[in-house]
Amino acid sequence: MGAVPELAGARLALFGTPYDGTCSFRPGTRFGPAATRNVSEGIETYCPVCNADLEDVHFADIGDLVLPTADKAAVLLAIEQAADELYSIGVIPAALGGEHLVSLPLLKAAFKHNPDLVLVQFDAHLDLRESFMGSELSHATVMRQISKFVEPSRILQVGPRSGTREEFETAQKFGTYRPDSLTPKELREWVGHRPLYVTVDLDILDPSIFPGTGTPEPGGVSYRELQAWIVSLAGCNWIGWDAVELSPEYDSTQVSSIVSSKIVRTLVLSSLAKPC
Ligand code: MN
Ligand code: MN
Repeated sequence: MGAVPELAGARLALFGTPYDGTCSFRPGTRFGPAATRNVSEGIETYCPVCNADLEDVHFADIGDLVLPTADKAAVLLAIEQAADELYSIGVIPAALGGEHLVSLPLLKAAFKHNPDLVLVQFDAHLDLRESFMGSELSHATVMRQISKFVEPSRILQVGPRSGTREEFETAQKFGTYRPDSLTPKELREWVGHRPLYVTVDLDILDPSIFPGTGTPEPGGVSYRELQAWIVSLAGCNWIGWDAVELSPEYDSTQVSSIVSSKIVRTLVLSSLAKPC
């Protein structure tokens, strides 16, 4: 999808983080990066909404990380080190999940290099549990873990529609919660010129267009709504992003993988747009 395989000269590097070790309900996100790439051959490199073309931006796809799946701590360390190395050479890390826990090591690396970053999360879920099924490290706790080093005042959680009462009360207390009525303009104004990391849990989309995910939640946003939010951030000071929770085997039509691929195209083009 318009990427080169070498890092030399690239401003951004895509890499897969095919991990689904803490998946609680329906596993399979480890196949997400490959599925996103496979269908990308069938989509255009030009995006009329962004008025930009993947052929005109220089980004690399360095493949999937080789992860020791049975060892959670080793997986998280490997992801953090990979992102850390990219930051050290001035390349924006852009990860394809995998489950949402992969965002924890990605944010650790991002925070080390950009302690004043702001984080925007698109997700059907708050992921603010203290622990889940006996573990503090899970896709369901990832935002709680991140909030321990990124100030909650620097986090925005857009469009969550599922969680425990405690999670929603925590999000209100943190001030991170925003309903899906948040406009692209309001989002853009909140981000401003601050260093921006965006985590896209694709299950924010309605299951009618994105059934290929582990925990589908009815009542989600449309493709156009998610696209409009991301495009509104074009020209912001992006320092990293990830797109997670595609589980392609649950959608035999492959539409979920195509949706993922087009959201990734939107993310590449928006994060590499000229500053404005
Ligand atoms: Mn999530
Ligand atoms: Mn989710």
